[in-house]
Amino acid sequence: MSEQLTRRVAMCLMAHPDDCEILAAGTLALLAARGWEVHIATMSPGDCGSMDLGPEAIAAVRRAEGAAGAAVIGGTYHCLESRDLYIMFDEPTLRRTTSLMRQIAPTLVITNSLVDYMVDHEMAGKLARSATFGYPIPNTVTGAVPEGAQVPWLYYADPLEGLDPYGQMVQPTTYVDITTSIDTKTEMLCAHASQREWLRAHHGIDQYVIAMRSWAERRGAEVGRPLAEGFRQHKGHAYPRECLLTAELGADMVISRA
Ligand SMILES: [Zn+2]
Repeated sequence: MSEQLTRRVAMCLMAHPDDCEILAAGTLALLAARGWEVHIATMSPGDCGSMDLGPEAIAAVRRAEGAAGAAVIGGTYHCLESRDLYIMFDEPTLRRTTSLMRQIAPTLVITNSLVDYMVDHEMAGKLARSATFGYPIPNTVTGAVPEGAQVPWLYYADPLEGLDPYGQMVQPTTYVDITTSIDTKTEMLCAHASQREWLRAHHGIDQYVIAMRSWAERRGAEVGRPLAEGFRQHKGHAYPRECLLTAELGADMVISRA
């Protein structure tokens, strides 16, 4: 399968700046190191992520942090300019999402879990699901369909803390060993300097990086590895069902629990 790929373009589309770094950056770093083009997109610029700054001021800070995080692996940052807590699954938002996806024409999309601790994440997952299906279809949005565009491989990252809204643990289909990319993931997360302060103020969490790492340790322990990220692959009609992450990163790096 890997030999047949004509495009190696990964898009991580999540709700807020820092979601991709917390939930998927170890895997994105591994792909980037293997020559993949990486795009990190967020539905909002994180405009509610401050106790002190107004929405536009903190949004400006966080767009810059998002760009800095992506740049660590040579990636490009995009913001779809919804607003925190108002990420809607509606026509205007889906059109913006689909248009951006058509510009990028990803082979692989990673998004938020469809069940998660807050609705923004679930909406981002739904938008990514619809945009992956629709972006190669000529009449969904304006603009030419890039050559090689196809319904991409789609993976949902873990919900925050791995829990659905009822407190039940979500079971990944796919674990990626991120032991060799944890330092890069950490550097990407640390680009979001404003959030270490915000989380400390709002959630009482003083351990932004330590919490990320301890979650990776938990997923790693489930498959006998030091550190891992968990994903669930979307295998519905029209989507590729083979595991692209296994094909690209190797069976020694990816553990399937389908
Ligand atoms: Zn988030």
